[in-house]
Amino acid sequence: MSLQSLTTDELSTFKAEQEAAYAALGSAGLSLDITRGKPSPEQLDLSSALLTMPGDDFRSAAGVDTRNYGGLHGLPELREIFAELLGVPVDQLLAADNASLSLMHDTLAFALLHGTPESPTPWAGQDIAFLCPSPGYDRHFALAEHLGFRLIPVDLHEDGPDVAQVRQHAADPAVKGIWIVPTYANPTGAVVSESVAAELAAIETGAPDFRIYWDNAYAVHHLTAERVKTPDILGLASAAGHPNRPLVFASTSKITFAGSGVSFLGGSPENVAWYLGHLGFRTIGPDKVNQLRHARFFGDADGVLAHMERHRAILEPKFAIVERVLSDRLGPHGVASWTQPKGGYFVSLDVTEGTANRVVQLAKDIGLALTPAGSSFPYQTDPRDQNIRVAPTLPSLTDLEAAMEALATCVLLAAAEKAQTP
Ligand code: PMP
Repeated sequence: MSLQSLTTDELSTFKAEQEAAYAALGSAGLSLDITRGKPSPEQLDLSSALLTMPGDDFRSAAGVDTRNYGGLHGLPELREIFAELLGVPVDQLLAADNASLSLMHDTLAFALLHGTPESPTPWAGQDIAFLCPSPGYDRHFALAEHLGFRLIPVDLHEDGPDVAQVRQHAADPAVKGIWIVPTYANPTGAVVSESVAAELAAIETGAPDFRIYWDNAYAVHHLTAERVKTPDILGLASAAGHPNRPLVFASTSKITFAGSGVSFLGGSPENVAWYLGHLGFRTIGPDKVNQLRHARFFGDADGVLAHMERHRAILEPKFAIVERVLSDRLGPHGVASWTQPKGGYFVSLDVTEGTANRVVQLAKDIGLALTPAGSSFPYQTDPRDQNIRVAPTLPSLTDLEAAMEALATCVLLAAAEKAQTP
């Protein structure tokens, strides 16, 4: 029975039931955490073989001693594997160190200090704004804010950012870019469609050096048998006459080891040359030993996909628990909606408007850690105070089930409190 259709007495009874359930959870001494999208220990174990690689055979296919300096582009054999998976020509894809977030940081820092190939002047000292499809990845927004950019929210739909809003804002020359997670977005699981990608590639922008930060962090992180394909943003942008607009990012953080993987940067030939030109002052070369062991571990692109199937076998039951508990416990009451992602690491839960902060506080008080409400929005402010990001990957199945049951009680209690407030 939906909360809206309850009489005053029924609502009081319902609230008393939730309070009793909540009190019982409080005395259970929970210590649960569904805050961050980290791989579970079982997932990390899938890549344990890396720990003893490459062993004594540390030469690359071309005979390079990977222990030594050099090779700014990254190891060709690993770039080939990921070029195929990411749909980027191999000579336009660089392999780097362990974090794609560092590549995003560095490309922005280079733009601030030196400008991009088509910037009239370096970005530093200018009023700069970035478009932030929301809800989105908190670290994207935090990085842009940290660098002094203004954050402009735009709506994120199931097929990508709201193109009309992007077009309107991008006409302003201060707007220099947009964050996009094209496949299985963090946290909603949205997938950018071909037509949205084509429009983004072609939009007339006020800034000549407008950039699409195309962060394909979850390109191969499927949760169903369907391997959703990411649009070819580099090809679309070239065809639209804006070859330098997209910068493509990815990493193996959620394929092998989150702290010891390999990151990738793809772009137009001019962008790649621009990046390498600055990178050469920052480093003499990436960790090629790590790149070599990754190339050997996977073998080829099919090896990566087979490895991701093993991740899926671990993750699918976890996402199934989230779906089951939310639909069993919240479904009948009309107090929340949530995503059913086909891949990625998160479920995005919208609770009753105006109660997300309350839910997070209620959960904290009984030993359940949730990502702070508002985290997925620019300036950590959710205008509707309704979104909570659920990260089911790290906990065990038993802990996850307990966490979801507790979360459901907190959502229902907060909704009942709200419904009673005149
Ligand atoms: N992009 C997105 C969308 C992510 O969700 C994450 C991890 N939470 C990252 C990037 C971080 O990637 P990396 O470890 O390569 O820095």
